[in-house]
Amino acid sequence: MGRKQHNFREFFTLADPPKKTSNRRAVCNFCIVEYTLSVASIRNDCFVSNKAKLCRGHLTKCINFKNQVPDKEREEILARKVPEDNKKVIKKQKINKGKNINIVEDDSDKKYYN
Ligand SMILES: [Zn+2]
Repeated sequence: MGRKQHNFREFFTLADPPKKTSNRRAVCNFCIVEYTLSVASIRNDCFVSNKAKLCRGHLTKCINFKNQVPDKEREEILARKVPEDNKKVIKKQKINKGKNINIVEDDSDKKYYN
């Protein structure tokens, strides 16, 4: 497990779960401002597992985040990358490489005709 904090970590407070076997909860700071930590940490729509993608998913639909942060800032925050975004980029690059191969083949065809 990497120790590096994900891009949305600063907007969440880690809370211990009711059962020790569960993962720690990342409770949305904006929900905490609205409801207090003790309430937000047990409200299903205020916390997620501490994964960048899930945290971003929460902020995307969090009404308290929307109310407390100006639109421009929200957009910037929601545009931050999660590890899953990088995977998508890698896939795209692979597809582009496939296209390059096609282009090379086209060139060789031309050479053939020359
Ligand atoms: Zn929230």
